[in-house]
Amino acid sequence: MARVTGLDFSLSPDLLALRDRARKVAQQGVADYGAHVDCWLNSHSPAFSKTLSEEGFIGMTWPTEHGGGGRPAIERVIMAEEMISIGAPIGGSWFADRQMGPSFISYGTPDQQAEYLPGMLSGETTWCIGMSEPNSGSDLASLKTSAVRDGDDFIINGQKIWTSYAALADFCYLICRTSADGPPHKGISEIVVPMDLPGVEVRPIKDAIANSHFCEVFFTDVRVPAVNLVGVEGNAFKQTMVQLEHERGGIDRLVSNRLIFDHAVSVADTSDPRIRNEIAQLEIDYRVGRLMVYREVLKQAPRGFSAATKAFCTEHEQRVANFAGRVLGAEATLANVYSTNLMYAPSYTIMGGTSDIMRNIIGDRVLGLPRS
Ligand SMILES: Cc1cc2nc3c(=O)[nH]c(=O)nc-3n(C[C@H](O)[C@H](O)[C@H](O)COP(=O)(O)OP(=O)(O)OC[C@H]3O[C@@H](n4cnc5c(N)ncnc54)[C@H](O)[C@@H]3O)c2cc1C
Repeated sequence: MARVTGLDFSLSPDLLALRDRARKVAQQGVADYGAHVDCWLNSHSPAFSKTLSEEGFIGMTWPTEHGGGGRPAIERVIMAEEMISIGAPIGGSWFADRQMGPSFISYGTPDQQAEYLPGMLSGETTWCIGMSEPNSGSDLASLKTSAVRDGDDFIINGQKIWTSYAALADFCYLICRTSADGPPHKGISEIVVPMDLPGVEVRPIKDAIANSHFCEVFFTDVRVPAVNLVGVEGNAFKQTMVQLEHERGGIDRLVSNRLIFDHAVSVADTSDPRIRNEIAQLEIDYRVGRLMVYREVLKQAPRGFSAATKAFCTEHEQRVANFAGRVLGAEATLANVYSTNLMYAPSYTIMGGTSDIMRNIIGDRVLGLPRS
């Protein structure tokens, strides 16, 4: 029997070549359109989306019969790590690539796939996700935005909040209530809402870094064709939970502060053993986080484990911000890409589900601990 002497984490020549290509494209994107804080959520460059499409970097892992690249999931992780670690403007196509496209491939009708997937793959359409409401964030099942059937249409009324990209999006992937009967998680449906329909009103919200990427969205008697329903009416809670697994276990939860980490390391006083120790620990955490993401995308992680990946990786991003703030000192108080990253960092453990909720999921669904 062959003796196992250790695990080899080095990338194959093909993957190294992909990484180098992605790095070059990312660097050019930053040179042309600037470096963006948490770029998968805070940047929008139609021109760069087109480049990503031409490079085959959108829909890389989608099946070829749906126009995707049919590539292994690990390739998308490698590509995305290069993009996000230097802040390339990938945001315009990110939600569609990560979430909406796979949802249509799993639950959409052939007509929906034919209508929506090509625009996503070419980078020409931008999507937003309408989940959170003023009184329904962590407890998503309590959401109230309603879609009531009226002949061949749904009439939608209600309000969403924190909807990233709503002001730029062509479509909203709306999570709403089609029935109030039964337990709260029943009666929830997913419906595609074109953002230019009468009755859709978007009000951008300015955040702590003076960015207005997320918005309030008001729906007043918005009439949407019933064929825009995705999957089974009233059964979307399950679909949404699968999407959240995609959303929480990805490399985008780990890499956004890599830029400030690299900068902080380059100016840190490494003659101090405490600083050296801290840098080593953060690098170890980064690599552990990356292994957790690899396990997610290689489907080696147990069900629900993306909650652990999300909590660990986003808390790492905050530890990096904390370290960079101390190392940069006065530089962290000037208006630059580093200080905006520091100001923005608290949001990492909120978006996509808070760390408290991730710990509840780990305790409840992964470990089966008793409820108090
Ligand atoms: C940058 C950013 C982008 C976002 N983009 C989007 C988007 O595109 N689309 C979208 O739909 N939403 C988006 N969100 C919203 C995000 O999903 C919610 O903010 C998040 O789910 C938390 O919900 P909440 O803000 O209503 O907080 P609440 O649910 O009100 O929670 C408040 C506090 O109570 C704690 N808490 C609540 N319930 C429990 C519990 N059961 N056990 C322990 N602690 C609990 C929470 O951890 C938190 O600390 C975004 C948020 C941010 C910060």
